[in-house]
Amino acid sequence: MKDKMDEVEIRARQWLIERGVTVDDIADLVFFLQKKYHKNLTKEECLKNVERVLAKREVQNAILTGIQFDVLAEKGMLEAPLQSIIETDESLYGVDEVLAFSIVNIYGSIGFTNYGYIDKEKPGILAYLNDKSSGKCHTFLDDIVGAIAAAASSRLAHRARNTE
Ligand SMILES: [Mg+2]
Repeated sequence: MKDKMDEVEIRARQWLIERGVTVDDIADLVFFLQKKYHKNLTKEECLKNVERVLAKREVQNAILTGIQFDVLAEKGMLEAPLQSIIETDESLYGVDEVLAFSIVNIYGSIGFTNYGYIDKEKPGILAYLNDKSSGKCHTFLDDIVGAIAAAASSRLAHRARNTE
């Protein structure tokens, strides 16, 4: 991890934790995505790649923006019709996914395959974020967390290929 974090990075990491998502949870998703391709893959390696993705400003910006909308929707503070669209996670909305793509994009096109797969399977923390009975609104966060995992997986895959 970098030794010096600025305000944006500190806040983005803090908000993730406050919304119930740890770096460890995201590393588990990376492990889930990559274990079949790298037989000696360790959780440590997954963690390291998640940390590198979280260190990127465009990722921090997406985290802050997405969580802000989730929190305001949860408090009923958005204006109609956006309030009900985000609160109910309306399937045709799609802006949550577009925001997540800004993260997936960073490490090239294989990120999209990982993202699509994990979004369908919804393992680990993604099952929790998609549980509508929690009373929480994670319309943006589920896509962001999936995207961070997909980006970290791409990073890991590219680097593994370069060393093999
Ligand atoms: Mg969503």
